[in-house]
Amino acid sequence: MSDHPKHGRIDGPVVLIGYGSVGRGTLPLIERHFDFDRGRLHVIEPSTAREAEIRALGVHFHNLALTRENHREVLGGLFPEGRGFCVNLSVDTGSLDLIRFCREIGVLYIDTVVEPWAGFYFDPALRIGDRTNYALRQQVRDEKAANPGGTTAVSTCGANPGMVSWLLKEGLLRLAADLGHGAAAPNDRASWARLMRDLGVKGVHVAERDTQASRNPRPRGVFVNTWSVEGFLAEGFQPAELGWGTHERWFPPDAHRHETGCKASIYIDRPGATVRVYTWTPEAGPQYGFLVTHNEAISIADYYTIGSGDDPEYRPTCHYAYHPCDDAIVSLHETFGTGIVQERHHILDEDEIVEGEDCLGMLIYGHARGALWYGSRLSMDEARALAPLQNATGLQVSSAVIAGMAWALANPDAGIVEADEVDHAFCLDVQRPYLGRIEAHYTDWTPLASRHPQLPGNRDEDDPWQFRNVLAP
Ligand code: NAD
Repeated sequence: MSDHPKHGRIDGPVVLIGYGSVGRGTLPLIERHFDFDRGRLHVIEPSTAREAEIRALGVHFHNLALTRENHREVLGGLFPEGRGFCVNLSVDTGSLDLIRFCREIGVLYIDTVVEPWAGFYFDPALRIGDRTNYALRQQVRDEKAANPGGTTAVSTCGANPGMVSWLLKEGLLRLAADLGHGAAAPNDRASWARLMRDLGVKGVHVAERDTQASRNPRPRGVFVNTWSVEGFLAEGFQPAELGWGTHERWFPPDAHRHETGCKASIYIDRPGATVRVYTWTPEAGPQYGFLVTHNEAISIADYYTIGSGDDPEYRPTCHYAYHPCDDAIVSLHETFGTGIVQERHHILDEDEIVEGEDCLGMLIYGHARGALWYGSRLSMDEARALAPLQNATGLQVSSAVIAGMAWALANPDAGIVEADEVDHAFCLDVQRPYLGRIEAHYTDWTPLASRHPQLPGNRDEDDPWQFRNVLAP
């Protein structure tokens, strides 16, 4: 008898789209934490690289790529009676179309990114503003507004986007307690936004340091990462984006606002993987991070906005500040140095990683205590002991998927939701056993401390937490 808690029963088929690094790690956790008919477990995966492994699991293997043209027919065939769970952990599949179809037939849905159909990320015909995560997210928000309620579809529920929104709320409650802020715990979006404002928070970095390292040196010409290389390259080549806070008093000269939608973020005319910011994590202390675009930079800025339109009363700045594993840093250096994306990709797995951790949390800054980093530190050794077939990065993602699925099963008619909109305490209760150490660290570090006096660039000495200081010259 397993001592792992069950988090619900899935009636009908379970369809996993994509058996890559995250799908592979999520499957055993679905089996561990949900009751369902194992004979109705399906994997859709166009690659045959892991066919033997999938077949050995005794699940139905559908060796095909979902497309705009075939997805209704394929999924319609796998969900004949309109119930079950569709777990989308793939690249190149249109999240919005899949959400629409699953809700139409009454099937629960979850994904970890608003993914477009193949071809979008590098489509030369698209204007730069249309290649943003803002544009991708806004389509899903518009769908939610046009069709409120109905079958639950949890959008963008991995580690980040996903878990970090729950950690942010827990971190804000911790900060409130430490500052002696006596207000009751918020229970809706407006009161969370008021709490953040009243605590004096100017902004939030999703501050990550991945120190996982392989026993094998990276071969030249191979892009190495700890999760999807395709996913990282796609977002790394999208324009840098950030939620734009109301405390900012300088506007980057190569940045743009959006004309329509929630208007919570701006984008910069450069691929995010070439834009560096100063940030801080407990693993590394001060460090560079890449200003890679992420859904949560926009969703969090939007969620915590007070007021609306072009001139809201309060909004935090929010962006990703990502230091990937060292092999990925060198891989990126090679990509941009040669101007050629490597054809060979490699995701480090649990058998070859010999050291390191994924340190992923929220650096909540600008308040009376300076900055608070609140997040998960999960080493490869811990991940190995907790769950099979994944590294530390993967486990932070797959356990968030399990938490989102559990929430959807408990709330099957909640419509389209993002991680900010679900019960953070419920989800962290499910996920916490897989997160290693959840730590809170206060620091008096500010981005001004990292700016070497001999580096060029403007600085704002009066407010260390201006984005002008965060953006590395
Ligand atoms: P991966 O590259 O290892 O796997 C993606 C899989 O999708 C591959 O096996 C690929 O063959 C399959 N695929 C490609 N085209 C497909 C199609 N048309 N239909 C069905 N399957 C298709 O990626 P991963 O590391 O497993 O990541 C999976 C997804 O999760 C990516 O979109 C990634 O961006 C996202 N992700 C999110 C987070 C988060 O924290 N939110 C973290 C990591 C990854």
